[in-house]
Amino acid sequence: MANVVSIAAAAASLPWDVEAVRADFPALAQLVNGHPLVYLDNAATAQKPRAVLAALENYYQRDCANIHRSVHQLGERATEAYERARRTAQAFLGAAEPREIVFTRGTTEAINLVAATYGAANLRAGDEILLTGMEHHSNIVPWQLLAERTGARVKVAQVNDRGEVEMEEFERQLSPRTRIAAFGHISNALGTVNPVAEWTERAHAAGAVVLVDGAQSAPHLPIHLSALGCDFFAFSGHKVFGPTGIGVLWGRAELLEAMPPYQGGGDMIASVSFERTTYNRIPYKFEAGTPHIAGAIGLGAALEYLQTLGMARAAAYEQDLASYGAERLAALPGVRMIGQARERTAVFSLVVEGVHPHDVATVLDTEGIAVRAGHHCAQPIMDRFGVPATTRASLAFYNTRGEVDRLAEGLEKVRRIFQC
Ligand code: PLP
Repeated sequence: MANVVSIAAAAASLPWDVEAVRADFPALAQLVNGHPLVYLDNAATAQKPRAVLAALENYYQRDCANIHRSVHQLGERATEAYERARRTAQAFLGAAEPREIVFTRGTTEAINLVAATYGAANLRAGDEILLTGMEHHSNIVPWQLLAERTGARVKVAQVNDRGEVEMEEFERQLSPRTRIAAFGHISNALGTVNPVAEWTERAHAAGAVVLVDGAQSAPHLPIHLSALGCDFFAFSGHKVFGPTGIGVLWGRAELLEAMPPYQGGGDMIASVSFERTTYNRIPYKFEAGTPHIAGAIGLGAALEYLQTLGMARAAAYEQDLASYGAERLAALPGVRMIGQARERTAVFSLVVEGVHPHDVATVLDTEGIAVRAGHHCAQPIMDRFGVPATTRASLAFYNTRGEVDRLAEGLEKVRRIFQC
């Protein structure tokens, strides 16, 4: 990862009290099938700290009102909390202004928004959209829909055997017709950390606008938009330890201003008549209807929590787990890890030879270990590695080396049961 060195330095200088961190997450302290829960499905959704639960409860118990339109006390408190969450997201990403933060339902909606507005307004037949071979379906299908609508063409930078896209391959797929390059910061299926700043530079040089899918990086790396250099960045609340149904699209103000609206309805307008409707300023132009107010407030609480913990320290701790896990799992006979990128996070996509990934996950569940089995909404990368599915263990800063050991023991049990 680009900042592994600084992350390692942070780790060396500051101890990580994982037990104190775990105490902030009530869901982690439960028994599942008679065993202490080992939650290793963080790439799908992460657990929530008390601060988030309290923010949600506070909104629903005290401040529950609609926003931007009530003059009463509750409406003002709700509006202030919602807009404070926007400012928190701005600070979390290092964005220039709060108006560059658009609340969406999540990463998926953020990407669809850009494809449907920026994409539809700017792409023509023969233009190209560059993706990589390791994208999540959310960063494939919206572009295919756009391509169908406009006659543009989707191109793919292919993945090597380690699970990386090499720079030469990325550059080979760029062309003067590339209008948009959209790629994940971290692969949810492989854990590969992509050199998005370098890719962005190359894409800009070719004249393309760049969207970074930050669904898997926002929870695990410090994000500095100015260092990434991209034009759009998307992430999901539920993966950054916040509520479901909320997420963020960041976009450069001048791009957002020039884009047509996404959905029509309340709050996104300046004035409406049957003859002519004018639109609100950004970001409200993209937030039609009553938004997920509680979700935004809960997301704000999650991001404040992460800032207090320190993302660089959390990332450093996770790097240690990633190295420990990679070594521990590589030592298991009959277990193969898909994706061996040089820069990777604590995501282990595993194949137990001769056992279906769903069976692996089911046996692990009997041990109280929660992992994901399937194609992880990334079928093209599964095809690339010639497997229909994997068993994925994805860790967060509240996991421990002891839990990695429990996973390894669980996998040994799988092999005993299936005699492989
Ligand atoms: N992109 C990546 C890399 C993901 O891992 C995910 C979810 O797993 C998404 C996009 C979609 O996120 P959401 O379902 O929260 O919109």
